[in-house]
Amino acid sequence: MCTAMVIHAGTAPAAASPLQRESLDTLARRYGFGAPLKMGMERVLRSQYSTVVFTAGSRKLRFNDTLLCLNGPALNKSATWTITRHDSRNMLDPLLRPSATVRGDDIATIVLDPGHGGSDSGAIGHRNVYEKKAVLDVAKRARDLLKAQGLSVRLTRDQDYFIPLSKRTSLAHRWGADLFVSIHFNASANSSVSGIETYVCSSPGFASTMGGRADPRTYKGNHFDKKNTLLGYYLHRGMLKQVKTTDRGIKHARFEVLRTAPCPAVLLECGFITNKSEAAKVISRQHRAALAKGIANGIMSYIAKTESRP
Ligand SMILES: [Zn+2]
Repeated sequence: MCTAMVIHAGTAPAAASPLQRESLDTLARRYGFGAPLKMGMERVLRSQYSTVVFTAGSRKLRFNDTLLCLNGPALNKSATWTITRHDSRNMLDPLLRPSATVRGDDIATIVLDPGHGGSDSGAIGHRNVYEKKAVLDVAKRARDLLKAQGLSVRLTRDQDYFIPLSKRTSLAHRWGADLFVSIHFNASANSSVSGIETYVCSSPGFASTMGGRADPRTYKGNHFDKKNTLLGYYLHRGMLKQVKTTDRGIKHARFEVLRTAPCPAVLLECGFITNKSEAAKVISRQHRAALAKGIANGIMSYIAKTESRP
């Protein structure tokens, strides 16, 4: 990010800039935490319900047992710790007040989007694992679990055919999707890399987690920034409760399906099929069923918050 543009707490903010910052002391007071605790390079906000851990100069944020990436780093300047106001509003607030974020939303139609298909095989991993086949199986299993809960669930493809990215979210729009979940497996040139990561749309004015420029544009998907955080959190946590693997965190990217989604949306990378042991797991039906259960549980956790009482 452009540190020259950082406005520190205490300076008079004019128009809302995503880069304005808020101190952890202010956040602690607002959400009923005690004073931030010092732990080496980290600062911790702790209450009886939640523990939030910030690291100086890093975007990494640990919320209870889950790793998330802020849009901008936590900074420690002159002993004042700050995060961007954007992250305070769109990441911390929904995590700390989930019901207030989604209460009353009517979630009836879920669109699951198995990545790739047809001539686009996606990644091809160890033991001849094809991403396009594995994601379709996981999506169908998640669909069946969610249908059993009385939800209407549509798949952007239910067989092995090619479907362009733009069509995936236009179908979601046409079907009146209330939530959109794109399902993928990951690949890396480094075969030792493993684990699950979850993506939500990068926010305007910030670079994506993996780098690139700070894009100032507001995309359709950014209208759901708060809800994207919450959906990403429940899905990521849901999967990690079901399968034992590395938590690579909830990250930001401007993938086309996330930019153009007509509703809260996430993209799941359910493991690296270029990693020998993770590919071996993906071959197993039980593992794919566990991932599907994690996805369905994550969606049901999100829906439960829409139904909570004030
Ligand atoms: Zn993919």
